[in-house]
Amino acid sequence: MSNLEQTLSIIKPDAVERNLEVEIKEMFKNKGFQILKEKKIQIEKSEAEKFYKVHETKPFYNDLCDYLSSGPIVVMILQKENAVKENRELMGATNPKDADDGTIRKKYGISIDKNSVHGSDSAYNAQIEIQFFFND
Ligand code: UDP
Ligand code: MG
Repeated sequence: MSNLEQTLSIIKPDAVERNLEVEIKEMFKNKGFQILKEKKIQIEKSEAEKFYKVHETKPFYNDLCDYLSSGPIVVMILQKENAVKENRELMGATNPKDADDGTIRKKYGISIDKNSVHGSDSAYNAQIEIQFFFND
């Protein structure tokens, strides 16, 4: 059965800073993702705290929110069949050291915190995250 989905992707500050925006978008397009909307923005720490609220109790939360708000990011709505799962596969494991060959994090990730991309982890959270950044 067809399952056309949308998911939220973020090219994180470490990747934007290294001018990897075009290369990473090519990886999405080559896998058949359509980029429905995109914008380059810089967010406030308070917005990062809201976005990553699920991680509020984790020891890395404060650094994570500092980091996501530290420089420009590119937020995108990606569309494809099974986009949520397909994007997680293309991103690779959270820690680039554990990421499979051919994944974005393997190719471009620097460390577990500077891992170049974010992707929604469920269709439900994808809708919430899309609304968060594209609430028009
Ligand atoms: N993160 C971190 N240290 C950790 C685990 C996660 O800095 O030990 C950061 C990392 O940037 C990760 C983000 O927190 O991408 C969100 O963590 P999550 O477990 O949701 O990983 P993801 O869904 O991004 O793979
Ligand atoms: Mg996550």
